[in-house]
Amino acid sequence: MPAFDDLIAFQRETEALAQIAGRLGWDQETVMPRGAASQRSEEMAAIESVLHARRVDPRIGEWLAAIDGDSLDAVGQAHLRLISRSHRRASKVPARLAAELARTTSMAQGSWAAARAADDFADFAPTLGTVLTLKREEAAALADGGDLYDALLDDYEPGATGAELAAMFAALRPRLVALRERVLGADYKPAPLQGGYGEAEQMALSAELAGTFGYDFSRGRIDKAVHPFSSGSGADVRITTRTNPQDPFNCLYSTIHEVGHAAYEQGIDPAYGLTPLGQGVSMGVHESQSRIYENQLARSRAFTGYLFQRMTAHFGDFGIADGEAFFGTVNRVAPGHIRTEADEVHYNLHILLRFDLERGLIAGDLQVPDLPGAWNDRFLADFGVAVDRPSHGCLQDVHWSVGLFGYFPTYTLGNVYAGCLNQALRAAVPDLDSDLSRGDTGAATAWLRDNLQRHGGLRSPRDTIRTACGFAPTEAPLLEYLEAKFSDLYRL
Ligand SMILES: [Zn+2]
Repeated sequence: MPAFDDLIAFQRETEALAQIAGRLGWDQETVMPRGAASQRSEEMAAIESVLHARRVDPRIGEWLAAIDGDSLDAVGQAHLRLISRSHRRASKVPARLAAELARTTSMAQGSWAAARAADDFADFAPTLGTVLTLKREEAAALADGGDLYDALLDDYEPGATGAELAAMFAALRPRLVALRERVLGADYKPAPLQGGYGEAEQMALSAELAGTFGYDFSRGRIDKAVHPFSSGSGADVRITTRTNPQDPFNCLYSTIHEVGHAAYEQGIDPAYGLTPLGQGVSMGVHESQSRIYENQLARSRAFTGYLFQRMTAHFGDFGIADGEAFFGTVNRVAPGHIRTEADEVHYNLHILLRFDLERGLIAGDLQVPDLPGAWNDRFLADFGVAVDRPSHGCLQDVHWSVGLFGYFPTYTLGNVYAGCLNQALRAAVPDLDSDLSRGDTGAATAWLRDNLQRHGGLRSPRDTIRTACGFAPTEAPLLEYLEAKFSDLYRL
């Protein structure tokens, strides 16, 4: 079918250009010389405008109209679904609005960083108001009269709705609050990590662990960056990590988290390379991979027993008596203000708070000047701790300043999906803990690759999880996992 072949050929070139744009971003965060910043922003804007023009190219509409979808196999139909979806979305947002959003959010990020450093929300409020107005305008263009928040959420988690997530989160919240109260009231107090840890040793151990979790260095590399991330698809999937002399877990677990993201991209069927199917299907499914690697696998009692030996091999005696004490140290629960430093029990409470507030902002029920008060009230209710300053409250995350409304819930959805996958994985690999206690993740990573990762964008996000697990995803497995793990660890 010539129209289909032409469409796919055009799309492959678009995907190749998108990979180049992504690599420019990677370069900017890792090795770009400081003096290149302003030239780089012009380079990025140039390639973004090429990409935008290709995504709204009228030939896509003509090819789509000429293709008989019923004559295609499942892979062809998935291509058609993803391409027409992306074309429809890109065509709905007026070019003027897209340009204004790009300009405003790139300035807003600087204004947010300055306000956070000065701990002054009032400084940032007018800028946030402008971003919010533009995002509501974008949402209205995308929503066709439907729900504004759902239209934004759809960018990150196609098919999900705010109402369905709100119901799932309402089931999580009371049990998470109850669990944190029981854990914090327990007599058992795991010891915190102490001492200093060399940067070279941290990077060596983190590279070793990336290998342990199956990261393919022939199609990837690890560099240092301020904020860890993974970047790229297919044959070039790079990750970054960071080091902190007092906290090697930050480096090691950030690396394992990013290896989870990278394993997904590296694990996709090579036949899908440089096509719309050749990348992770949604942010939530992506996060399920990073979380199951980081938490259900790497923070398990079995794996931390192995990690204790590897820590000792790299750092010598570091003041923790044995593997069991180390399991407690790795999984120590402490209420803190900062989402990115949160333990497994508190993490989702940070997300639930942001989800409710951003839904209110997009709906127009919450006004920007009232945001700090609403944040602080909710934080006190769920964490039992007052927010002492804006940088510990609503100024801590970059997301809203760059227009990422609808992104936060994908973190918790990823945890929920990881809970489901963990339940299915443990049923399929009954000896998993004995493997993990020897540092052998092979059976786990192979199960994830075969049942989920290799399919890329073939199915919808929810169907991707359902097919891998053999059951429809719900929050129950995550709650059961957290309650069992922390009741056991804290001897409740
Ligand atoms: Zn992640």
